Amino acid sequence: MTSDETTRQAPDVPFRHRGLGMAMRFRCGACSNPSDTEGRGLRHVAGLRTYVCKRCKDRIDARRKP
Ligand SMILES: [Zn+2]
Repeated sequence: MTSDETTRQAPDVPFRHRGLGMAMRFRCGACSNPSDTEGRGLRHVAGLRTYVCKRCKDRIDARRKP
């Protein structure tokens, strides 16, 4: 009897569907809220290129326009 059988009970991968084409989630680099990938964009945030949600992307774009 080892402790292996009891410690491996809890699944630590609650949602990871691979190759199903489902809406993926990512964490927005600007507002750090989880968001779906639709409408996201790659923008510079605090000097880093990161994906941002659509809302943040629009806000950043609006700010950068002359
Ligand atoms: Zn955002």
